[in-house]
Amino acid sequence: MVTNRIRRFYSYLLLLLHICFLFILNPASSSTEDTAAAISRFREFLQINTSQPSPDYAKATNFLLSQAKSLSLESQTLEFVKSKPLVLLKWPGSNPQLPSILLNSHTDVVPSETNKWSYHPFSAHLDSHGKIFARGSQDMKCVGMQYLEAIRRLKASGFQPVRTVYLSFVPDEEIGGHDGAKKFAESDVFKNMNVGIVLDEGLASPTESYRAFYAERCPWWLVIKARGAPGHGAKLYDNSAMENLFKSIESVRRFRASQFDLVKAGLKAEGEVVSVNMAFLKAGTPSPNGFVMNLQPSEAEAGFDIRVPPTAEAESLERRITEEWAPASRNMTFELGQFKHRVSMLSKFGKPILTATDSSNPWWSLLEEAVRKANGKLGKPEIFPASTDARYFRELGLPAIGFSPMANTPLLLHDHNEFLHQDEYLKGIDIYESIIKSYASYVQHTRDEVLRDEL
Ligand SMILES: [Zn+2]
Repeated sequence: MVTNRIRRFYSYLLLLLHICFLFILNPASSSTEDTAAAISRFREFLQINTSQPSPDYAKATNFLLSQAKSLSLESQTLEFVKSKPLVLLKWPGSNPQLPSILLNSHTDVVPSETNKWSYHPFSAHLDSHGKIFARGSQDMKCVGMQYLEAIRRLKASGFQPVRTVYLSFVPDEEIGGHDGAKKFAESDVFKNMNVGIVLDEGLASPTESYRAFYAERCPWWLVIKARGAPGHGAKLYDNSAMENLFKSIESVRRFRASQFDLVKAGLKAEGEVVSVNMAFLKAGTPSPNGFVMNLQPSEAEAGFDIRVPPTAEAESLERRITEEWAPASRNMTFELGQFKHRVSMLSKFGKPILTATDSSNPWWSLLEEAVRKANGKLGKPEIFPASTDARYFRELGLPAIGFSPMANTPLLLHDHNEFLHQDEYLKGIDIYESIIKSYASYVQHTRDEVLRDEL
């Protein structure tokens, strides 16, 4: 009898202890609250209309500064150009001698055609499936907020960075970054930050693997112009401006097809070929009802958007332009965007602007490992097909990796109904928590840092 009673007493006690442990070890309610709060902060940032051409930078800045305050991060607002603020946040490391980590994101977004969206692009509508619809949900307010949420978690866990971590929220990326990241990269503030690695935006991936970018194609904006004797619309003669331009367009079209075929055949990725697309055609003699029809004009023009990977031979492409697309022998001239938009393909050290993705770059290896540790998959590194602010940092010779952790997500940047699923957003926070932890704890000198020390 007595033993039975004791046994029962012990089993009750065990049950009680078990229940207590469940409460201590599984604070489910608080983590659900944390998740809901993170989603709500993301949506709040998305609801700020930072659409070009008149982004509400003041509101975005106030929001970011309030986030920084809640995380006890040091903050400053830089205005390289009036009314175009750049918010710079700092989490000081215990060893400020080591080069720092820069997490960059842009606060502006592209315009949207509101009537073509299912929900207003600045409502940040969360639908019953968990999708968050908003302009900037993929490009790239998600990444900026994921950096902050990852830091929130690391701080809560008591993590102390060895390297200093900076976050920059830059304006104007969508209109070329000249008043934002470019001026920032050229500034003394930037120099004093002693940056060792930059993370910037990538692209959503429809597969289960994340995409990472180590370089980007360089835009060449080409305008070719043909001149020729004007003539009656009924006359057949050689060397009219239109005929000369047609010959060029046919040649450009053949080149475009040859590049596109490589992509279609799976031999090259989109970022590895030269893309050429016609942006405009300008010719004809205007009349009150349209164009004069019985006249062959003396001038004709065509404009092309060309994107050149850093691995391409720029000289051979320039030769193709002068010899085939706009030869002087056919009375043609060309302008390469007055070289205004032709960003250099070489860094200030005369090397192609690429970030190494092998063991020579420890930041790459650390990123691969950190993604794996957080149960993410990383695809083969790619060349970004368009331009991002990362080029301004790579031009300084710094390693920069383009990475937006969005898997299982259709690519909708600049498209109608841009969205990100909340689960993918939350998974991205895990990924960044792992990356920032690994980067900020890395104490080994990288090769470049050793070189710099020796100088
Ligand atoms: Zn972007």
